[in-house]
Amino acid sequence: MSSQNSTYTFEKLGVCKTLCEECKSLNYHIPSKIQVQAIPYALAGRDIIGIAETGSGKTATFVIPILQSLLENNKPYFALVISPTRELAFQIKEHFELLGRNIALRVVVIVGGVDMVSQAAAFARKPHVIVATPGRLVDHLENTKGFTLQSIRFLVLDEADRLLSMDFEKELEKIISALPKERQSFLFSATMTWKVEKLQRVSLTNPVKVEVSEKYATVETLIQNYLFIPAKYKDCFLVFLCQEWNGHPTIVFVDTQNSTLRLSLLLKYLGFAATAIHGGMPQTKRVEALSKFKQGQRTVLIATDLASRGLDIPSVDLVVNYDIPLHVKAYIHRVGRTSRAGRTGRAINLVTQYDIEAYQKVEQYIQKKLDAYPCDEDKVLQLLERVSEAARISAHQMKERNQKKRKTRRELAANDSSLILDEEDGEDGESLGSEKIVQKRKRYDHKKSR
Ligand code: AMP
Repeated sequence: MSSQNSTYTFEKLGVCKTLCEECKSLNYHIPSKIQVQAIPYALAGRDIIGIAETGSGKTATFVIPILQSLLENNKPYFALVISPTRELAFQIKEHFELLGRNIALRVVVIVGGVDMVSQAAAFARKPHVIVATPGRLVDHLENTKGFTLQSIRFLVLDEADRLLSMDFEKELEKIISALPKERQSFLFSATMTWKVEKLQRVSLTNPVKVEVSEKYATVETLIQNYLFIPAKYKDCFLVFLCQEWNGHPTIVFVDTQNSTLRLSLLLKYLGFAATAIHGGMPQTKRVEALSKFKQGQRTVLIATDLASRGLDIPSVDLVVNYDIPLHVKAYIHRVGRTSRAGRTGRAINLVTQYDIEAYQKVEQYIQKKLDAYPCDEDKVLQLLERVSEAARISAHQMKERNQKKRKTRRELAANDSSLILDEEDGEDGESLGSEKIVQKRKRYDHKKSR
């Protein structure tokens, strides 16, 4: 990892033999900076506030002490980890399972978009660790008979700044008040905002503060370029980049859910192994897209900012900002998907005549003047005819999809006006997918029948 400290070993930090072996088998030979700073305190029973981002090794920083304590004291409902998103929750579960694979660890993920009843059944298996998003956990606290958090010994609030920016304050309050006072708590956040400070005061006792991230800096191994292009040739330049980087894991960031779908259709038509991910997709589809990308079955992931933070995709070689983000912090998070763990990576920004102001803001913020990405424009424009055809066909496919969606929505809404949903119902400001409407319909029918 980029922030490792070679004078330390996990043994020296106090990590037990079993877990040191697990670290070794995962190629964690040297602890990262946050691990060096936090693990000894965590093992000594202290509460921790860690200012660190994804990529710093923060997950293992809390997983290792929890597992070590669990090894000494094998009890169900031992630890609760709160994550802002479903994807991050699944990644945290994976991390626990990897490090805990030889100790018969039981981890359950409690997130929205999954049936509550089968989740409740998972509690019967007495998990050691619960990884949850706040909303669904509160649902269970309020509605699942017999479910309690009274035996929890460890609480982790991961990506606390994000939890708070997503307005989970009320849920967090409820969760914290359902926990026993006698516990050890860790709070991780990429930034220290006043809201995070407030949360820290109510959730931690006399914490040790550790900080490793340079605030909003890009890493040295990241090469950043721009391509100044006319807006009408944007797709053509994207296809050119996909060709040049063919086979290299690439994330293309766009502003809207529609663009993720349009571009993935366009690239697929041209023979690229592309897939889309955005917040409006049903959970199963998101997980599927992500795992195909992780396994290399898909090499281009078209994403909204949903994927810019929190997703642990270790080996991305290229990030393309198809749309320049309007918030500079989003830029840092997006490009942070590459050049992780000490590897070299590249970020390329497609800057059109409409993006100059936003792009200048990025350059000012990172205090760097970027070089143009070298490319032969004539060669790029040779692709124009094929790309235009692909664009036409993908636009047509999009139209058909939208018509189909509208039809399903009209049919479902026909019987009841309360099911006519407005645009805000979807995540990221887009309309709901038909699967969500069906879910809402089911909830409605269920309520009616009670
Ligand atoms: P995180 O910041 O927890 O999302 O971790 C980022 C990546 O670093 C993950 O792929 C981890 O598996 C990996 N990682 C965590 N700790 C270490 C370590 N000490 N050495 C090498 N890789 C690590």
